Amino acid sequence: MVRHENNGRCPKCAELLKLAHPKLRAFAEKRQSENAEVHVSCTFRDKADQDRAFAIHASDKKWPMSKHNRTPSYAVDFFQIDRRGNPQWNKDWFLLEIGVPAERAGFRWGGDWDRDGVPHERGEGDNPHVEIP
Ligand SMILES: [Zn+2]
Ligand SMILES: [Zn+2]
Repeated sequence: MVRHENNGRCPKCAELLKLAHPKLRAFAEKRQSENAEVHVSCTFRDKADQDRAFAIHASDKKWPMSKHNRTPSYAVDFFQIDRRGNPQWNKDWFLLEIGVPAERAGFRWGGDWDRDGVPHERGEGDNPHVEIP
């Protein structure tokens, strides 16, 4: 099984990113080159994956309506693995390391769906998710 590694060249992330749109792949690779704690949990979801995600409320969309269902995938989900190798779930980390750079690069971030930049809304919602608008 391919594992996530925190050396800046994670083989598991590279495998997942092969299924992502080149623009999103380039964005993810740049984030990873700047911060080895940035990892990818999901790019393309096939029908079985999407059905599962819908069933556990990880997605509110049915196949094939999610941007994760396109080929290549128009969405990437990120997460943090800290320097000790432990997954983290920190709202501020998502905002600073994923949300702000994603919006600056022209993508839509799941923590700010309507992209109005209103601060009290930021960091709420689907923080791991970045998609091509
Ligand atoms: Zn990884
Ligand atoms: Zn997503």
